[in-house]
Amino acid sequence: MLYINGEWCKALTEKTFNVCNPATGEVIDTIADGSTEETKLAIQAAKAAFPTWAKLTAKERFNYLHRVAEILRSRVDQIAILITKEMGKPIAEAKGEIGLAIDYLDWYAEEGKRIYGDTIPSSSPDKRLIVIRQPIGVVGAITPWNFPIAMITRKLAPALAAGCTIVMKPASETPLSAIEVVKAFHEAEVPKGVVNLLNGSASKIVGAMMESPIVRKITFTGSTEVGKKLVRQSADTMKKVSMELGGHAPFIVFEDANLETAAEGAIASKFRNAGQTCVCTNRIYVQKSIAEKFAAILADKAKNLVIGNGLENGVSIGPLIDERAVQKTQQHVQDAVGKGAHLIQGGKQPEGKEYTNGYFFEPTVLLHATHDMKIASEETFGPVAPIFEFDTEEEVIKKANDTVYGLASYVYTKDGSRMFRVAEALEYGIVGINDALPTVAQAPFGGVKESGIGREGGKYGIDDYLEYKFLSIGLEG
Ligand code: NAP
Repeated sequence: MLYINGEWCKALTEKTFNVCNPATGEVIDTIADGSTEETKLAIQAAKAAFPTWAKLTAKERFNYLHRVAEILRSRVDQIAILITKEMGKPIAEAKGEIGLAIDYLDWYAEEGKRIYGDTIPSSSPDKRLIVIRQPIGVVGAITPWNFPIAMITRKLAPALAAGCTIVMKPASETPLSAIEVVKAFHEAEVPKGVVNLLNGSASKIVGAMMESPIVRKITFTGSTEVGKKLVRQSADTMKKVSMELGGHAPFIVFEDANLETAAEGAIASKFRNAGQTCVCTNRIYVQKSIAEKFAAILADKAKNLVIGNGLENGVSIGPLIDERAVQKTQQHVQDAVGKGAHLIQGGKQPEGKEYTNGYFFEPTVLLHATHDMKIASEETFGPVAPIFEFDTEEEVIKKANDTVYGLASYVYTKDGSRMFRVAEALEYGIVGINDALPTVAQAPFGGVKESGIGREGGKYGIDDYLEYKFLSIGLEG
């Protein structure tokens, strides 16, 4: 279903597309396949709703967002099943993601009350200088499949708290979670036109958003390749853009680190969501003196991860999103082994009839990886942990920064001075220091270099939905 101007509707052509479970290959739902015309209607609805929504008090907008958060909180179990079915992550991870999605709603409901302006000392005694902050207008939001609910509320919550209205397009693999979020907005009686949802052809829906001069901001989470296209397209109508793009995270383990904690961290960062996260570890750099020992601990933990349908009890690693993802992962392993990496765990699709219809891949550990391998520069987006060795701090910083990406990075050491030296030298938007899971609603999330533009989360995340307006006031008498 599409949601335009407060109503659920079919596509104008009545066309639909299937949503499939990557663990079983089964069709789990059929969704309206929207296109250009529906997007234009949604943009008009968002435009019409904007003046009234923007004029509400922060407290009134808080009340709506708070109500939505309460509705979602009451449905965690039900929505978690849907997430697991449409994209495969284990049910416990799906529940964790919904918790994060709700955190964004809670946090921005409050943050909307703190959109402050400034007064500036004037250069003349008969003038007063004031800066006010106003919502930017209609926002176009485009999200990926790997965090189908948290990526949506991370955009919706600050946009609405700031007073903007929104037109959203989730990934075609995962429209069902987005529909659940919008149902909550509908039930919370958020005024019609404030939130609009489109599913269907990305090029047509997003194309209509990009062409429209009414859409003043585009917020995108997805691949760097698509992000670059959207930045180019945004020039024609000079839209503001926020880009949360791909990553290639280094995970650095110094010889003084607690190896057990570091290995647990690497497991969480690498194998969560079957390795399909933008902040997931892509390159594990281990100081040479401890590399073999660390590799053995990591391989042992990876071996114990239970592969399967995320709806089943005890499963810790679900399927990849599709066949293409399995092929890419397999190619990265083959390329690395062909260039001299030692395969010490996994490396292939699991065998057994429970895996035949899904897109599963074994948690894989490679030792002696080198920078000429594909895995050292391309996002694998699969459960493969390549271990690279290093001798010195200076060397590892250089290697860690040797990528076009700059989203998340991780450092494990007990040396306090080194923590600061390395963290400050890493060209990344996020550094987890002895911490593999740094994402929280109150902190800035985002990258440098080709990992993106802007930040989501915390007080920083609402800025991009606001404009500054300068009032220069001449006094009389
Ligand atoms: P994607 O292929 O770039 O798709 C993301 C969204 O863009 C989807 O809604 C997709 O719609 C749409 N899209 C695809 N092609 C488009 C086009 N030519 N014009 C306009 N829109 C288009 O990325 P993905 O495979 O869903 O997600 C994985 C990527 O997202 C990875 O690179 C990952 O690192 C990144 N990611 C980044 C963050 C972050 O916060 N930095 C978070 C999560 C994921 P359709 O599904 O209909 O094609």
